[in-house]
Amino acid sequence: MQNILDKAVEYGRNFISYGKTASYIPELSKVDPNQLGATIVTLQGEIYSSGDCGSTFSMQSVSKPVALMLAIADRGEDFVFKRVGMEPTGDAFNSIIRLETIKPSKPLNPMINAGAIAIDSFILGSNARERFRRLIEFFRHISGNDSLWYNPSIYRSENETGFRNRALANFMKDNDILIGDVEEVLELYFKQCSIEVNCQDIATIGSVLAAGGVSPITEQRIVDKQIANLVKTFMVTCGMYDASGEFAVRVGIPAKSGVGGGIMAAVPNRMGIGVFSPALDQKGNSTAGVKVLEYLSRELNLSIF
Ligand code: GLN
Repeated sequence: MQNILDKAVEYGRNFISYGKTASYIPELSKVDPNQLGATIVTLQGEIYSSGDCGSTFSMQSVSKPVALMLAIADRGEDFVFKRVGMEPTGDAFNSIIRLETIKPSKPLNPMINAGAIAIDSFILGSNARERFRRLIEFFRHISGNDSLWYNPSIYRSENETGFRNRALANFMKDNDILIGDVEEVLELYFKQCSIEVNCQDIATIGSVLAAGGVSPITEQRIVDKQIANLVKTFMVTCGMYDASGEFAVRVGIPAKSGVGGGIMAAVPNRMGIGVFSPALDQKGNSTAGVKVLEYLSRELNLSIF
């Protein structure tokens, strides 16, 4: 396994130069684009790492499936999916157009920005502070990393420039989708996106999903099996945004990417994989990260199809 992972990372390096770090969040454009690391956590609890796996990065959209699990555990499926849809989109992750053209208005799915912002407004807590505390504790629990915290510079950078996300949130408030105070929900969302992790943290989250909600390391149940399976399904249909179809064909693993360069993958009954490389393609997915997963899928026969 170590040998195959090393080879996958070596292969992935060839594709770093095809991508660019995200620039719409100014702080992300300062990240060294030449990093590439990957970690595998198997359901037997073995851990394999290769490349720059000591690097940390912000979760960005990799956080969306995790927040979704908490919101469903808090409110139940019926409540959540009355307000947020289940359909993939052919539009960009931050697209605004469908919010107005679909009647009644509803974000298409919880993996695009509009859906994820709405999801954050469903998280329970008597005030903003408690909602954030519950969220970060859930992220710590599922990643097995008790010291997870958000990166304040990335949080500030996104908060100061998040005009489009503000527009999405305000539009959803006007349509009674988003619950509570718009600015408080955005604060929670931006903090969640800037949570700092390494490859092992997201590989561990992937392994919990792969194991149907139980941590292979602590053997503790973290979420219901039904919630874990539902989230994996969203990762297949919407996890790589408008590249989800091609990713399903070429790689065939439930996965979620983020503009920080992370990809969290969950291979049912086998392993979680965390990959990080910050240079992104046009759709916002890590160029080298996708190639590492493609290589691993081929060599280890990981496609679920
Ligand atoms: N924080 C980012 C945003 O809202 C997350 C997007 C992403 O990772 N694709 O724009």
